[in-house]
Amino acid sequence: MGMDVNQIRFAIFLGVFLLMLVLEHFIRRHPLVDSKPRRLGINLGITGLDIVLARLVFGAAAVGAAAFAGERGWGVLNYWNLPSGVELVITIVFLDFMIYVQHVVVHMIPFFWRFHIVHHSDLDLDVSSGLRFHPVEILGSLLFKVGLILALGPTPFAVLVFEAILNGMAMFSHSNIALPLWLDKALRYLIVTPDMHRIHHSVEVNETNSNYGFNLSIWDRLLGTYIHNAKKPQPEIVIGVNAFRKPEEVGFWNLLLIPFRKIP
Ligand SMILES: [Zn+2]
Ligand SMILES: [Zn+2]
Repeated sequence: MGMDVNQIRFAIFLGVFLLMLVLEHFIRRHPLVDSKPRRLGINLGITGLDIVLARLVFGAAAVGAAAFAGERGWGVLNYWNLPSGVELVITIVFLDFMIYVQHVVVHMIPFFWRFHIVHHSDLDLDVSSGLRFHPVEILGSLLFKVGLILALGPTPFAVLVFEAILNGMAMFSHSNIALPLWLDKALRYLIVTPDMHRIHHSVEVNETNSNYGFNLSIWDRLLGTYIHNAKKPQPEIVIGVNAFRKPEEVGFWNLLLIPFRKIP
């Protein structure tokens, strides 16, 4: 192989990021309320910080945990002798479900919401919003994922595929692109679309507390947290949280400090 794992991952990330950015230019779904260059700068700044921190603290933690579990025979999948294709599907579906659960929990427990609100404070949604998570939330998610991987015992390859899908889907589902309505509806039977996730970013509390899925839409449908249409038509949905309505309240340094302050 000419490219190593991190190069492949970065190539997928960059490809999806640029594709969404171009599509947002040509088929925009939702009007903008904040400056896009400014938001891109902030969100990519946070992303850079997340990448540096995650690398420094944990390295390739998730894939490493899978290799570690494999060597020691830890985890359910290392007990069963399943075909690798089946293992791959189980890994993706299981991790996606647990990330759905994690997402519900960070909304329900006020201490975690302090960090997750940074993601929700974006006044517009676009491809960069899919990367905007407070570094503490990123580290917490990573720890949780490592625990799950040690218990499940997937192959490092399956974890890699899952991470690439999650990363690509996060950028797709946050993108400000207008899909044909028939396509949106068809995709939503299986996966999360931009219109579906935009409802989760509405200031309306019952809409925020719905559509928690990241990759598969089935968890919301099965567990009763699915909303097909917001109260307002898609282009009129007010994005963000009521606590922060001004761009200057959600600048780079403020975003990092929000969890440690009293939220109005
Ligand atoms: Zn959320
Ligand atoms: Zn989101």
